[in-house]
Amino acid sequence: MPTVAEKSVLKDIRKMSLAELEAFFVAHQEKPFRAKQVYEWLWKKSATDFDQMTNLSLELRDLLKKNFSINPIKVDRMQRSADGTIKNAVRLHDGLIVESVLIPTPDRITACVSSQVGCSLDCTFCATARLKRMRNLSADEIYDQVVVIREQAEQYFGRPLTNIVFMGMGEPLLNYNNVLAAIDKITSPKGLNMAPRRITVSTVGIAKMIKKLADDGVKFNLAVSLHDAINETRSRLMPINETNPLEDLAEALKYWYKKTGRKVTYEYVVWKGINDTPEHVRALVKFCKHIPCKVNLIEYNPIDDGPYQQASPEAVKLYQDTLHAHGIIARIRKSRGQDIDAACGQLANKI
Ligand code: SAH
Repeated sequence: MPTVAEKSVLKDIRKMSLAELEAFFVAHQEKPFRAKQVYEWLWKKSATDFDQMTNLSLELRDLLKKNFSINPIKVDRMQRSADGTIKNAVRLHDGLIVESVLIPTPDRITACVSSQVGCSLDCTFCATARLKRMRNLSADEIYDQVVVIREQAEQYFGRPLTNIVFMGMGEPLLNYNNVLAAIDKITSPKGLNMAPRRITVSTVGIAKMIKKLADDGVKFNLAVSLHDAINETRSRLMPINETNPLEDLAEALKYWYKKTGRKVTYEYVVWKGINDTPEHVRALVKFCKHIPCKVNLIEYNPIDDGPYQQASPEAVKLYQDTLHAHGIIARIRKSRGQDIDAACGQLANKI
């Protein structure tokens, strides 16, 4: 069997496509259907050890062990919030840590997963931004977070995982290929077979990448962290807006809608003294006219004693009422898991 040092240089079997696995077996005078069996163990049954592959002979398992490794994530620490939310700090094979969250509601269990270690975007209100971007997660590291939460949903709630949101650490559209590859494994009948309409990818709003999603014909939902519809304010909150202003975002969203016919969700926090005036409400209503959409008014989760504070309930209500008056669905979202720093924008490896 390979030593630890040898193991680390072995090829990660989850980087192999089905065709590559087939070629591997054929090259070793084995039947190509073995590849399908292995692929199913990896992506449908989420095997983390070759010895779990019990329909392969010991000899074949040894062949795999000599040539490949499997590098599953490990839950380093699990915390449970008073509201039932579970936060996992998960350790990657190189020792880095990301966080993923299980959010239970009466009718759903949602997995909130990370796409990068840290983040490069510098949104001024977000704790993850303080970490800087260390690296992209691989497709299997994203997939594994879903598998962990899927098991926790059964174990702690006796219910299946129903939804997945890419709203953990990182910007999914800056790790485009791996995020799409992970979603493919999660939705494929050869994988976890979850419906793509139960998956939402949330982005800071990178226009070019939104167009690419539309061109690639993706079937999952898109959410955009908008937070303001006036360039000057949005640029202060989210520096990405300087090179990727609202006009470009609107154009990309129109392109998305034309190609996919699917609504977009805008995430929006109302902050005291920043965007809690009718001028900002009007700008949002105008922005919402670009394409069919809905708005999630999310509660601000304090990350430190910095300049940001949640606006008054009246200010948030003004947003909701005005949006409703214009026929736009707007929901006020209560924060979950705040007590364990598991809420939006609080993921920062504080362990
Ligand atoms: N980079 C992607 C994915 C992160 S999702 C994106 O920006 O959409 C995390 C969501 O939480 C985003 O909508 C983000 O704007 C929001 N968020 C960040 N910090 C927050 C905070 N302190 N309170 C509430 N929401 C926050």
